[in-house]
Amino acid sequence: MSKVLDRFLHYVSFDTQSMDEQEQIPSTEKQLVLAKILKEELEAIGASQVRMSDNGYVYAVIPATADHPVKSLGFVAHMDTAPAMSGKDVKPRIAEHYDGKDLVLNEEKQIVMRVKDFPGMLDCVGKDLIVTDGTTLLGADDKAGVAEIMTMAEFFLSHPEIPHGNICIGFTPDEEVGRGADLFDVEHFGADVAYTVDGGPIGELEYENFNAASGKVEISGRSVHPGSAKGSMINALLVGMEFQAMLPAFENPMYTEGYEGFFHLDQMAGDVESAHLEYIIRDHDKEAFEQKKALFQEVSRYLNAKYGEGTVSVTMKDSYYNMKEQIEPDHLYLIDTAKEAMKNLHITPLVSPIRGGTDGARLSYMGLPCPNLSTGGYNFHGRFEFIPVQSLEQMVEVLKEIVILFEKM
Ligand SMILES: [Zn+2]
Repeated sequence: MSKVLDRFLHYVSFDTQSMDEQEQIPSTEKQLVLAKILKEELEAIGASQVRMSDNGYVYAVIPATADHPVKSLGFVAHMDTAPAMSGKDVKPRIAEHYDGKDLVLNEEKQIVMRVKDFPGMLDCVGKDLIVTDGTTLLGADDKAGVAEIMTMAEFFLSHPEIPHGNICIGFTPDEEVGRGADLFDVEHFGADVAYTVDGGPIGELEYENFNAASGKVEISGRSVHPGSAKGSMINALLVGMEFQAMLPAFENPMYTEGYEGFFHLDQMAGDVESAHLEYIIRDHDKEAFEQKKALFQEVSRYLNAKYGEGTVSVTMKDSYYNMKEQIEPDHLYLIDTAKEAMKNLHITPLVSPIRGGTDGARLSYMGLPCPNLSTGGYNFHGRFEFIPVQSLEQMVEVLKEIVILFEKM
């Protein structure tokens, strides 16, 4: 069994599911168990400056062996798995030489992964797929990233004759609940630039994500007996519907893809007297993002002019920004280097915009430019998650190649 496979199967045996809306980091104590194991493993393979924070962030350094200055390069992966599906008692199975047909995950419970639902399976014909028994997720997101980074680190530690710069390693808790970057100590980490290894099918390379804001709309109506309401009632529910109707109808998650942004009505509640609407606003383009937020305010001004000042109040808050703004000016070489590494290994790079955010996006705004690399996995966050053994192994080679290309820069 290859080392990366061995490691991966070991890591997925730990339940590290994170939990939404917890005060503390990590959100679940059980993440610390794997954090401690990773710390010990980094020590055992001979990494330097191995340390674990009380919050379960694990850091280490593979010291430079090059005889000239090379940028310090970081690799980041997360240890937790998604709250959406259990990651306890994962029973991985390797379906060898996948033949391109539907795969029975669980005979007894009749859980079948069908090609028509998951056409990505056809990318993997002939490969050995690590699948679940259909009752849990697998945890390739992101224990594949952890295993790939660890195996790359071990390679360089056991080959001191290969020149490279400082390699900084970071394993984080709570990425799946949006908090992986919260307590990440960028300065202490020590890298000039980094990659998260947290993407999907092999070759994926991402450095554009949404600009994101949330918008809350409070509507104060005026309740009057319906029989005598003429000229005096203001129905907050109807004002809320009017608010939604004034937003562009097709700039909606239901009708958008690629680089198209949207207004998404996520929650709505109320009665005649008061109503409450919650939106998220997304756009890759900074200017279009600002225009969307301005329109949101404009709608509330219009409705206040129509129904009286104070009828509608809007609070908006930016959530995160497109990391492209941080990568493109001076760090596009991160993308070019990753592409070159993949091409050298006969992997086709697939650059596409993320329709969401990543920890790397937040780290990029905390001063650590940080695009995202593939792990090789498919169907994250659910029972149909899988990863080909060959992708795990190839990603180790991609990480090694990136380190080697960096030394030559
Ligand atoms: Zn992930």
